[in-house]
Amino acid sequence: MDAIVVVGASLAGVHAAAALRRDGFVGSITVVDAQAHRPYDRPPLSKELLTGRFGPDDIGLRSAVDLDVTWRLGSAAVGLELNSSGADGAALGGRLLLDDGELAFDGLVIACGASARTLPDAGGPDAGGPDGVGVLRTLDDALALRSALDDGLSSVVVVGAGFIGLEVAASCRQRDVAVTLVEPMAAPLGRILGDDVGLALAGVHRRHGVDVRLGVGVQRVTAAAGDGSGCDVHLDDGSVVTAQRVVVGIGVVPNTDWLQGSGLTIDNGVVCDETLWAAPGVVAAGDLARWPSARFGSMLRVEHWDHAVASGEAAARRLLAGADAPAFDPVPWFWSDQYDTKVQLVGMAGADADAEVVSGSLDDDRFAVVYGRNGRLTGVLGVNRPRHVALMRARVEQGISFDDAVTAARDL
Ligand SMILES: Cc1cc2nc3c(=O)[nH]c(=O)nc-3n(C[C@H](O)[C@H](O)[C@H](O)COP(=O)(O)OP(=O)(O)OC[C@H]3O[C@@H](n4cnc5c(N)ncnc54)[C@H](O)[C@@H]3O)c2cc1C
Repeated sequence: MDAIVVVGASLAGVHAAAALRRDGFVGSITVVDAQAHRPYDRPPLSKELLTGRFGPDDIGLRSAVDLDVTWRLGSAAVGLELNSSGADGAALGGRLLLDDGELAFDGLVIACGASARTLPDAGGPDAGGPDGVGVLRTLDDALALRSALDDGLSSVVVVGAGFIGLEVAASCRQRDVAVTLVEPMAAPLGRILGDDVGLALAGVHRRHGVDVRLGVGVQRVTAAAGDGSGCDVHLDDGSVVTAQRVVVGIGVVPNTDWLQGSGLTIDNGVVCDETLWAAPGVVAAGDLARWPSARFGSMLRVEHWDHAVASGEAAARRLLAGADAPAFDPVPWFWSDQYDTKVQLVGMAGADADAEVVSGSLDDDRFAVVYGRNGRLTGVLGVNRPRHVALMRARVEQGISFDDAVTAARDL
């Protein structure tokens, strides 16, 4: 293999490129990204960048510094043509079509992540909606909100109480902005952590002054009545919340449009085998890769920082090692910072999982919960309980019995 192209100069793509070099690949590596920014880290966008603790220069991806690759930043991939594969399924490469040219490759890493979902009827100026409606996925999104905060933003509606919405709500409250958080489900993160834990997190936000509205959706967003500055958010219980800005955090969509017609299987992401192999010479990693996990017995697509790093490295190894590469099947892990509350989950939880509080109380800002399924431990959540998450991680990997996990976690 002489030429490898990486699509996406973010966490998964940069770590794939770094792993290729570390593992001795001496051919050319070109890293393409639609954004013109140097590679940056996303977790601080909704935290330190909004609260003002970090500026854009503080969030560069360290692993991208001095990386021996050709950067092609500001070029979007718009199509993929794969050479027909040989009878032995060998990696024959293909051509990546860009909006400003094309690149031939022997190996391709697809790591172009996901984009924030928008409200169908909320618009934003580009969609004919009002000014002041935005999402938070990119540095430009975060800088736009930060600039509004610096200019004295006084009220915001956050639509969606997922991790990004909760973090934006927390950062805005830390800057004394009045925050209304609107979530159509009965509890924040109910599908991921269960309603009881979700309601406990809602309590954290209420104690910090957020107006949390659960079980109510957004019908539409219009320019505010009156002087027309700001937005009116019309809720489906008939109420209207007026705010200067609306931040929509209702999940993401994998960036796969440009791969239609390429021959790859696209189904809620780029579908890969258990080694992240999507087609001869093509691997996928990060937020857009979907692969079969034997550990959890299902197809997974994971949107966490740790996963982007680990899958980028595993995808690179797969390109170099060929079919001898091991299956990629780690235990997922993530964290989220809201005020002085650190939420961490190792493994999987889920609304229908067995769940037991093993430390603290859900009425408090510090507790740990053990999750299980079919009598086995599947995940551990810590809210300001990093020790529980760290010490239980190996047990999640081992998949010990749920009862033993509860006992072990209570003894910590
Ligand atoms: C605001 C925010 C806060 C987060 N906080 C946390 C956290 O606290 N903890 C945690 O575990 N995870 C967090 N995450 C999730 C984590 O950052 C993501 O899982 C990770 O960034 C995914 O990396 P990726 O490389 O797969 O994709 P991305 O980071 O989405 O990068 C994809 C790259 O591909 C580029 N691209 C897209 N389409 C094209 C195209 N057609 N051609 C060329 N380039 C293209 C994009 O410009 C982008 O640079 C957060 C995410 C966000 C947005």
